[in-house]
Amino acid sequence: MHAYQLAPYAALNLVPARRAFQEPPATSRSEFGRDRDRIIHCSAFRRLEYKTQVFVNHEGDLFRTRLTHSLEVAQIARAIARNLHLNEDLTEAISLAHDLGHTPFGHAGQDALNLCMQPYGGFEHNLQSLRVVDVLEERYGNFDGLNLTFETREGILKHCSRNNASQLGEIGQRFIKKKQPSLEAQLANLADEIAYNNHDVDDGLRSGLVQENALLEVALYARNRQLVEQAFPGLTGRRAVAETVRRMINTLVLDLITASRTRIQAQQPRDIEDVRNAPPLIAFTDHVRAEANELKQFLQQHLYRHYQVQRMTSKARRCVTDLFNLFMDEPDLLPPDYFVRDEEANNKAIQARKIADYIAGMTDRYAMREHRRLFFVDDI
Ligand code: MG
Repeated sequence: MHAYQLAPYAALNLVPARRAFQEPPATSRSEFGRDRDRIIHCSAFRRLEYKTQVFVNHEGDLFRTRLTHSLEVAQIARAIARNLHLNEDLTEAISLAHDLGHTPFGHAGQDALNLCMQPYGGFEHNLQSLRVVDVLEERYGNFDGLNLTFETREGILKHCSRNNASQLGEIGQRFIKKKQPSLEAQLANLADEIAYNNHDVDDGLRSGLVQENALLEVALYARNRQLVEQAFPGLTGRRAVAETVRRMINTLVLDLITASRTRIQAQQPRDIEDVRNAPPLIAFTDHVRAEANELKQFLQQHLYRHYQVQRMTSKARRCVTDLFNLFMDEPDLLPPDYFVRDEEANNKAIQARKIADYIAGMTDRYAMREHRRLFFVDDI
């Protein structure tokens, strides 16, 4: 399945694969390729198209959505995996699934839902991504969820509170024992960061909320913008931005590859178990780590906290909170699948979790429509 030799410390294609329900081995693809295909065909994946990354879906057709974000993460992760002789199929599966549990309206939606869910165990989007692939997808006759391999599930759960980890069995153990996941998972996580830092620069400039003059104070941007000026004197506008952003992505990807290679060589892991027991081996050099952090901070300040983004964030918070509170007060307004009946009806935590599943599964526009339908008398 691989055109290159996998390193001994890569996630190997085990037969049988580590799935909760044993299935006949995959015939035309690797087991991780099968995971990836299941993810692409599931409904939560299609909903990513209408979920906010930074800009709400209706704000413009060219901005990233969670779907295009996930595709960019997968592209970057695959390139790095191939260079390091890691398992490309696995890192692709993890990348495509990493945001499946996100609520509508990005982090604003997740924070609001987490606040609402405080009395009932909270809400973490990472944990929800795992819940989507383990439980919520209904596509198979003999099991709930997608029955993905342990390695893909381990990669999806990139953060987890100790409290939640203790209830997750084997998959939660690494948070308690403070161990690392596979290198494929580590790199999907950093590919996520490379993707959003760069596309948020692009989207920020495109939206006009971020000014290029301000960005020139960020070393990583300034340095690469300078290279563009040398290659194409006088080039400005969208082309100059695109040339700069692709150089920034390249800088980060190449640094991650060389720095990780050095760390792996120093650590000499013999297999994936050695990887799990070692410190993180996929990492930038300190210098580039500092530059990436500077860019992150810039985006925090100039884009994510921009008052026009905050206005949408504030509305999003209200939308999610209103829906949650209304459904808790009047659960009979819920679609039947989410309404907890009879014997469980007195257990508010069970009902709350179902409401969180319902809301988390909504796209931006579905949530807005549902809010309008329920709160405005003249809307039906
Ligand atoms: Mg992401």
